[in-house]
Amino acid sequence: MRWRIDVTGVVQGVGFRPTVWRLARELGLAGFVRNSSAGVEIEVEGARAGEFSDALRASPPPLARITGLEVREAPEQGAADFVILPSREAGASTDLSPDVATCGDCLRELADPADRRFAYPFINCTNCGPRYSITLRVPYDRPNTTMAPFALCPECAREYHDPADRRFHAQPNACAACGPTVTFHGVGGADAMTGVEAIRAAITLLLDGKVLALKGLGGYQLACDALDAAAVATLRERKRRSNKAFALMACDVDSVRAFAEVSAEEEALLRSPERPIVLLARRPGSLIPDAVAPAAADLGFMLPNTPLHWLLFHWRSAVREPCVSAVSGRAERSPNFKALVMTSGNVADEPIVKNADVAHRVLAPFADGFLDHDRGIFMRVDDSVVRRFAGRTLFVRRARGYVPVAIPLPGSGPPVLGCGGEVKNTFTLTTPGSALVSQHIGDLENHETLEFFLETLENLKSVYRVAPVAIAHDLHPGYFSTRWALEQAGCERWGVQHHWAHIASVLAETGLAGPVIGVALDGSGYGPDDTIWGGEFLIADGHSYERAASFLPVPLPGGEGAIRHPWRMALSYLATAGGGVLPDRAAVRALVTRAGASAAATVLKVRENRTLSPLSSGAGRLFEAAAALAGLCDHNTFEGEAAMRLEAAAGGRLGEPYPFTITGGAPPRLDFSPAFLALLDDLEFGAGGGLVAGRFHATVAAAVVEQVGRLHRATGLRDVALSGGVFQNRLLLGAVTSGIAALGLHTHTNSRVPANDGGISLGQAYLLRLRLLALK
Ligand SMILES: [Zn+2]
Ligand SMILES: [Zn+2]
Repeated sequence: MRWRIDVTGVVQGVGFRPTVWRLARELGLAGFVRNSSAGVEIEVEGARAGEFSDALRASPPPLARITGLEVREAPEQGAADFVILPSREAGASTDLSPDVATCGDCLRELADPADRRFAYPFINCTNCGPRYSITLRVPYDRPNTTMAPFALCPECAREYHDPADRRFHAQPNACAACGPTVTFHGVGGADAMTGVEAIRAAITLLLDGKVLALKGLGGYQLACDALDAAAVATLRERKRRSNKAFALMACDVDSVRAFAEVSAEEEALLRSPERPIVLLARRPGSLIPDAVAPAAADLGFMLPNTPLHWLLFHWRSAVREPCVSAVSGRAERSPNFKALVMTSGNVADEPIVKNADVAHRVLAPFADGFLDHDRGIFMRVDDSVVRRFAGRTLFVRRARGYVPVAIPLPGSGPPVLGCGGEVKNTFTLTTPGSALVSQHIGDLENHETLEFFLETLENLKSVYRVAPVAIAHDLHPGYFSTRWALEQAGCERWGVQHHWAHIASVLAETGLAGPVIGVALDGSGYGPDDTIWGGEFLIADGHSYERAASFLPVPLPGGEGAIRHPWRMALSYLATAGGGVLPDRAAVRALVTRAGASAAATVLKVRENRTLSPLSSGAGRLFEAAAALAGLCDHNTFEGEAAMRLEAAAGGRLGEPYPFTITGGAPPRLDFSPAFLALLDDLEFGAGGGLVAGRFHATVAAAVVEQVGRLHRATGLRDVALSGGVFQNRLLLGAVTSGIAALGLHTHTNSRVPANDGGISLGQAYLLRLRLLALK
């Protein structure tokens, strides 16, 4: 008997063929295995050939994700041996593996002075190493990666061609004799050093309290000793004093525990092959300087994801041996650093830098030295950021380690593109049965980010051989993504309302058909009624939506500029609460004093002008206003800072809700004016920012739950979908979720894409695909 087996999914670059080869040999079978651009093709013959597909299903290689396994009979050929054949092109495309953090086997060799790859910073195997970031084309073979220029030395070639070796067909396989090398340059033209000397120089630089720019897996990173307050302050200063948190890297979970609380689930996430940045509760009194994350209650930690990172912690500059036992893998001596700041190497809002020439030009003002290497980064991927919440992983940023894993969609549909929004942009391409969400691209506000958008789109279209027949875009005419979509001739274009796309992203992930009660809370999104939306209750499914309620729209004084200055928004809410005039209260007078009396007067005047001050129902603005009033943040140095400070001030405690009203009419409006007046009472009685912050969160949660209850009673719907960046606020998400549960209703949230605007491209693509299917 001979059987033909076609396997699809993430089956290339994950050690699939050696597994097949070993399995076939164990069962005494003849035949072949080969990669094609559609997946992996296998033919087996022999007495036990019938057992093969079940055996493969039962024990696939650890990193494989099988989405299809088709078995059929084939004519017997009397083959004598089982062989691995060269790859074959086959029309369709195959799923590309994401990049994978260094595995335990490779780390043991890296730390073993007797191993030929001792301290070699590019060690990898079929179970680990770069994938997506180095792949130019499929099939995933070495000539189609940025490893093509490196010819294998005889020893590496032997491993590569030996099916019994754990580096069999490991495309990035390399060693110090034949592979990429690291180079160190001090800023100011000091002589370059290579190999372990370069790593030693980089460590010395970091120990001296300086800032290092290093080429990581998917782009450059800026590093400094996280416990050196002066070094952190220098980096903060050079990063133009934005208060955005720096990511941290520690060498193991025990080290992370010195600074942050780590649950068993969070530990598993930190150690996972994806190695994301995990947001963790800061341990009181931790030695991490405040300047690392001035606005946040959490610290974002990751473990080393490449051998180069690992060596920064463990390579001893004085003695040429590592501090980790090759046998136990445990630290025998303390590492060079307890923690390193490891933040994205970019300028302001531009994407992460991937090439050395650009890095040396644009990162020079930030760094005192460069640790480069000559393995090309084809696709840049930033570090992913996640957190655990109520037993699930929530994405803040989805990139390295997770992209391009496909998200399955129901049924089969035409290929479409959702081109996303403006900030935290991603795009989504669909294949017949799934959605490919791009890595985090960034804010589409400058030329470099637009280039990144276009290069990533071209790459994913070509790798997956997707030619979208239609494009979904946001309704905002000023978004780059909208303007770009409208320029694409010969392709159907369709505008999707921002908050409907948020809710649809939850439908796409969960497979819920709807209709659902959708609650989309974010900063701003274009409303079809010429106001800015952002505190929205939608009755929505995959075909239509109705705005069933919203937060009360208030003037955004001077337009989008108010977003950077929460005090302006606070004055606007207070004027609304006071019926057009500011309440004469101590906290209001203090706010006006801080802002300057004439600036405050100007804001109140501009507020009356509807051309200059559009109405906004944005939930983000509401939180920012409360933060300013509570004296926590008058100016945002990055998007969402004031709201983040408000959540941090609450310290996880909610308190008694303030009063609010829900107006009648169509649609009903949630009016927080009574809450602002009661908040002023609290402040007048001497309540601190923490108490006020907790009560304010409780208020918004209570109002949302009340409105959800009303919609449930009016419609009978029991499924509630929550999305939008404001739901990244854990205190709010927890309170809303438990309130909805108390009503006996079901909450659904994003868990495969971010709830922020990084998720809307998935919603757009999902809706457009359904629309085309319905029109058919
Ligand atoms: Zn490995
Ligand atoms: Zn070699």
